[in-house]
Amino acid sequence: MTQASILGFANLCLAPLADTCRDMSATEQNSASNEGIPPQRRPALTPDDYVAGILAGNRSVLARAITLIESQASRHEAQAREILQKILPRTGNAKRIGITGIPGVGKSTFIENFGCYVAEQNHKLAVLAIDPSSSRTGGSILGDKPRMERLSQEPRAFIRPSPAGGQLGGVARRTRETMLLCEAAGFDVIIVESVGAGQGEIALRSMVDFYLLLQLPGAGDELQGFKKGIMELADLILINKADGENRLRTEEARLEQETALHYSQPATSAWQTAVKLCSARTGEGIPDAWELTETFYRQLEPKGIITARRRQHLRD
Ligand code: GDP
Repeated sequence: MTQASILGFANLCLAPLADTCRDMSATEQNSASNEGIPPQRRPALTPDDYVAGILAGNRSVLARAITLIESQASRHEAQAREILQKILPRTGNAKRIGITGIPGVGKSTFIENFGCYVAEQNHKLAVLAIDPSSSRTGGSILGDKPRMERLSQEPRAFIRPSPAGGQLGGVARRTRETMLLCEAAGFDVIIVESVGAGQGEIALRSMVDFYLLLQLPGAGDELQGFKKGIMELADLILINKADGENRLRTEEARLEQETALHYSQPATSAWQTAVKLCSARTGEGIPDAWELTETFYRQLEPKGIITARRRQHLRD
């Protein structure tokens, strides 16, 4: 089966479910994805039930499968492995996009607007997070503030809160496996956000095709090291908050960063990292950011660069 026909099949399976999902309130969707070990009152699912539900795009089964994968209990491990093995042939069809930046740069505001824009373009997107820090309330990307409220009500979007803390390697592995489950469920754009401060960025690079770094102008010398190392991983740098009085400073920052990039290797061969302005708040620059993402795939997919990168990720 070709990639297009697999996607087409997954979309067909999802169609009748779209209405059910539309009826689901955001709270229900989020609590569905926030649940712990599947409650007793619900019938236990066999690995084949999980696989059938995921392939049919059933969000509640998808959420339960993710919970199973996140479970540390050894009795769940074999089941999780079996499910992953069975869905593997139906994965790999999504654009895998990583988004990072220091806390306060505007990641959740950006993902909210970017995600809604991408959904409007008829894509189904899943938003996941790598968050190895345990400082956030409940370890959840939705737990400490009303994040991405509008996006969580978008029927074409699925937001999965981050697993509660833990060692970075474990969190990253579970995020990678969650990404595969979402792909098998028919999501064709996966956004993985690194929400910890400075720990998850490299792990993030090793699971996505396209790496987007959000920056602020003049964020201070103490952050330059972070910026420089991470800048070299980025396929697109967006200087955020390019609105109001900030506009001029963001333009200066853009020129500065463009110059800095001249002296480093591009993160992806055959792709020139771009530095653009954006305002996650007003939405300015968001359609351009999506257009650049699509151009990245249009140019690099036929050259086999994305497949090679994914193969490398698997080996790592
Ligand atoms: P995160 O910690 O990186 O997820 O950042 P948030 O999305 O929570 O944003 C941090 C603060 O910056 C919030 O008060 C946002 O309203 C504000 N913010 C985010 N994007 C923009 C923007 O484009 N322009 C302006 N002026 N403020 C923004």
